[in-house]
Amino acid sequence: MTTTQQQYLLVKAEKAILSPQHATAPTQVLIDQTTGKIIQIGQAIDIPKDTQILTLDNDQLLMPGLVDAHVHLNEPGRTEWEGFETGTKAAAAGGITTVIDMPLNAIPPTTTPDNLDIKLNAAKGQLHVDVGFWGGVIPDNSQHLPALLDRGVRGFKCFLIESGVDEFPCVNEEQVRLAMDQMIHSDKVLLFHAEMDCDHCSNNTKELDPRTYNSFLQSRPQQLETTAIDMIIRLTREYYEKGTPVNTHIVHLSAADALPAIRQAKKDHLPLTVETCFHYLNFASETIQDGATHFKCCPPIREANNREALWTALLDGTIDYVVSDHSPCTAQLKRLDTGDFGQAWGGIASVQFGLHILWTEGRRRGVTLQQLIHWLSKVPAERTQLHHRKGEIKVGNDADLVIWRPEASWKVDVKDIHFKNKLSPYVGTTFYGVVDQTIVRGQTVFDRSSSSSSSFASVPLGQTLLE
Ligand SMILES: [Zn+2]
Repeated sequence: MTTTQQQYLLVKAEKAILSPQHATAPTQVLIDQTTGKIIQIGQAIDIPKDTQILTLDNDQLLMPGLVDAHVHLNEPGRTEWEGFETGTKAAAAGGITTVIDMPLNAIPPTTTPDNLDIKLNAAKGQLHVDVGFWGGVIPDNSQHLPALLDRGVRGFKCFLIESGVDEFPCVNEEQVRLAMDQMIHSDKVLLFHAEMDCDHCSNNTKELDPRTYNSFLQSRPQQLETTAIDMIIRLTREYYEKGTPVNTHIVHLSAADALPAIRQAKKDHLPLTVETCFHYLNFASETIQDGATHFKCCPPIREANNREALWTALLDGTIDYVVSDHSPCTAQLKRLDTGDFGQAWGGIASVQFGLHILWTEGRRRGVTLQQLIHWLSKVPAERTQLHHRKGEIKVGNDADLVIWRPEASWKVDVKDIHFKNKLSPYVGTTFYGVVDQTIVRGQTVFDRSSSSSSSFASVPLGQTLLE
């Protein structure tokens, strides 16, 4: 792929959706490539000298690039699971222009300013899309939280149940309060992995064959989630009512049983938001084969009726946005050889496919492209405090764009996968939506039709997002 020396890029689209509110007739978007910003939008623009013109085909749609706010890139420390280069290439190929990296599974975890520096160093020269960072709350690191906020983390993630890695222990209520106390004057958000042990929560699964999906599903009942979510809402309400609100957020909601409590919390205007994942909106536990451990994630994929309740909650606004929770590992750790759900690492690799999954599943349900942008670009940009530059196509924003063909379809082949470990439950799936080109701050980072050997920019053009 050649990079342009011209100063301006004009994208001419017959069909464009600029934001959830703006689906337009033919639109032209003028970008200053020296700043990466959108400088003009209209139906007829005076074209400056030094302008490269990109005219889209009639079946191509222009939309804001996606923001995936929940991705585990695992570098440094577990780079054999994923890495900045492969993870961000996969994102670019999926129309994602911003990912937010989770604080755990890399070693060290992003729990101190020094550890953030180690991560930033590891990311240098490897990013194909823009990357922001969540910090982590673990026992005894609350003194580091203000400095991490100053350094530009988008907020913090904590676990209320063991995380699966030793260097990222879970926290108890007292430790959550210490973290919340540090966030009272911040507009950033505290994220919760919302599963928590309680008396009578866990089923005895010893008698069940660990190769069956049911053995895993029974081991992570909805009650683990509802118990955690009740505590999160209680604390959110307490801080809100005493006049020191803290933004809280539930990551990867799976349990539909938690929806009534979340609906009430939102009705009461608590500063609480919720995400779910593509896989909970797409799969149903009844159809997962024995030994198919690439479907294992925590909390688990549940029954079809649970999936339908999550869709209802997404459509009525109870669930705010959708993420991948891309959390890959090596084939060995996935235990595909034994198919033992108890032993396998939990996590689904899917960062490249979010747009396709939600569009394919959503179009059957009458979902509009504007709704897709709401869930995949605008709201995640807001919740990660990046809405001053990401999430919509508008003058002054970064020129983060995806050009794709919503009505074209394709079947996922292993050779099309750009993340490192090509283990994904989506292999063999036929999706609607083909991403042709992804543009980050006015520069093409992915071009399917590129005549060079790679579809990706030869120089990684992504930046870290610390403001
Ligand atoms: Zn995760």
